[in-house]
Amino acid sequence: MDARALLRRYLEQRREAGERELLLDDLSVETVMRLVGALPAGVVGGAGAVADQRAEQVVSRPVAPVADRPVVATPRPASAPPSGASPPAVGVGADPSAGAPIDVGAAGGELFGGVASGLETLDDVAAAATVCTRCSLSATATRCVPGEGSPASRIVCVGEAPGETEDETGRPFVGRAGQLLTQMLEAIQVARADAFICNVLKHRPPGNRNPSTDEVAACSPFLVRQIEILRPRVILAFGTFAAQTLLQSTRKISELRGTVHRYYGVPLIATYHPAALLRNQAWKRPAWEDLKLARRILDAGQPAGA
Ligand code: URA
Repeated sequence: MDARALLRRYLEQRREAGERELLLDDLSVETVMRLVGALPAGVVGGAGAVADQRAEQVVSRPVAPVADRPVVATPRPASAPPSGASPPAVGVGADPSAGAPIDVGAAGGELFGGVASGLETLDDVAAAATVCTRCSLSATATRCVPGEGSPASRIVCVGEAPGETEDETGRPFVGRAGQLLTQMLEAIQVARADAFICNVLKHRPPGNRNPSTDEVAACSPFLVRQIEILRPRVILAFGTFAAQTLLQSTRKISELRGTVHRYYGVPLIATYHPAALLRNQAWKRPAWEDLKLARRILDAGQPAGA
């Protein structure tokens, strides 16, 4: 196929995806060069170029609106800090238009104390959350959804609370929003199995209503302990609720995204919830910028090709 036909097909795909504006400067050099025929189709320009191509596919994919939980919530600060945080990331190219970074706690802060402090492993946390009756959600939920992923995960993804499919299966982010989350991770070359995926709440609120302050206070020790055990390289907080809770902030997600915050020393990127991206195409571009930020943090200090 010649360069013009390739370019035409690319533009048609973008138009079908509902995009009116072409942000050409946001494509990788390799992608544009390939589009105009300056590079053979098989040639890639390294991990960044691969990630760019894959993200272009994810952000350009047409999606239908879905009825999902609202992602706007009032902030409910997590109750206690993790310890043993990773060193801060530097030079990762945060969005200069983003709000000021928030630094919750101090790097290597005090050991977690409280209900979950004796839990040594992720399995211990999951077992404790499963039998927890500290709030009323355990009575109305079908199953506990403690979270899943490798204990060696360098990236922790935090959402709001289980939805209907998660409640049925006991697994986080397995509905439509979850499928998009999996694609978003793959776009930055993180296999779902290599991430730890969880929520602020471990039981589903009835009808997907917003979590209450009391529920967050009761449940957040489990999240904090999971982060403390994992000591990830980066935390991705998806949506207003997770971001405001972890960052102890009332700022909007549009103000919290685009920069590198710290959660007890662990770099934290806040971005739009996948359910919100299914409703609003315009947020896909900034979400991709946030994902690239997370990728750069993962890459910082890594040997080439790791
Ligand atoms: N939304 C969330 O916040 N978490 C899930 O697990 C699923 C949907």
